[in-house]
Amino acid sequence: MSCDSLVLNHIQKLSPYQTGKPIDELQREFGLTHISKLASNENPLGCSQAVIEAFHDHPVELARYPDGAGFSLKAAISSHFALDAAGLVLGNGSNDVLELIGRTFAGVGDEVIFAQYGFAVYPITVQAIGATAVQVPAKDYGHDLMAMAAAVTPKTKLIYIANPNNPTGTCFGQAEWDAFMSAVPSSVIVVLDEAYTEYVTRADYADGLRELAKYPNLIVTRTFSKAYGLAGLRLGFAAATPEVAGYINRVRQPFNVNSMAMVAGVAALADQDFVKEAVAVNQKEMRLWQQALTMLGLHWIPSQGNFLCVDMKQEAMPIFNALLREGVIVRPVVGYGLPNHLRISIGNDAENMHGIEALTRVMQSV
Ligand SMILES: *Cc1c(COP(=O)(O)O)cnc(C)c1O
Repeated sequence: MSCDSLVLNHIQKLSPYQTGKPIDELQREFGLTHISKLASNENPLGCSQAVIEAFHDHPVELARYPDGAGFSLKAAISSHFALDAAGLVLGNGSNDVLELIGRTFAGVGDEVIFAQYGFAVYPITVQAIGATAVQVPAKDYGHDLMAMAAAVTPKTKLIYIANPNNPTGTCFGQAEWDAFMSAVPSSVIVVLDEAYTEYVTRADYADGLRELAKYPNLIVTRTFSKAYGLAGLRLGFAAATPEVAGYINRVRQPFNVNSMAMVAGVAALADQDFVKEAVAVNQKEMRLWQQALTMLGLHWIPSQGNFLCVDMKQEAMPIFNALLREGVIVRPVVGYGLPNHLRISIGNDAENMHGIEALTRVMQSV
């Protein structure tokens, strides 16, 4: 018997999130030993040494359940970002909170707005909760915020926005944000996903945490997966009003964040020098990639993140596959409707040299 008929209609239509190819999978497939993964926007420096020391200094009792209220980590986040701890929701990665927000505010018959080329987790979440996805066409690969505000109807419950956006790296500024928020009714929840906020260099960036005080309908999400280098532990959070956070916390599994992640989060926040170093390396290494791409005659979407979305000027899958044979994993974005682009995460010096050499060889042979 097939279980198809038992599965909810909107779940049957769900297509899975495509993750970056794991290093050991490529090792098994091609028997390669030297592999550079530039596919998941991870931190090429690893994580702060302070995190490793914290595991040593504060050994976690693995037999005990974690603190379901996340008291210590919330206190650390609250003091570091000057936020009310009652307005925080901790998540098993910010992916977890993005999904919890969807489940808290939208269901069958409700509309949820996001942008073309917006982060894939938004359409997946919307589909999983049975709500109606409203995808607004992008402008120059980025969010067309005024068009998104114009797409609001009486059925709209949520708007998901990533600033900077993944996979394009685009980023809007304060003026655009202000105009957008003035145009959106306060009855619509706006989710501002700031996974790459630490990497932003534009001076007029609209820092979501600073905006929270102005808008009770705003939820900002942050992650420890990128600049903090803790993607493997899964840790992120949302900041909102205590009322909004209170509802999202009701939907949350009581122990969604594990003990190790909470210890790591406190230590990682305290080591801002590590974050600064990661950001500096990203800037320097991104310039290296940009020079190499220019030499290859390739263009990229201007990026405020730790990755570049590059126009290969031809179908990108053959180039992706040729790079795999060279031991370099990048990310196809055909699933985003960008069949000619590849997203390349900025690695460390050795990884980028490997990536640039491999891409140069591959482009000579295609
Ligand atoms: C990487 C990323 C996240 C963070 O995911 P985690 O679940 O925190 O690892 C969230 N939003 C965007 C746009 C991302 O690229």
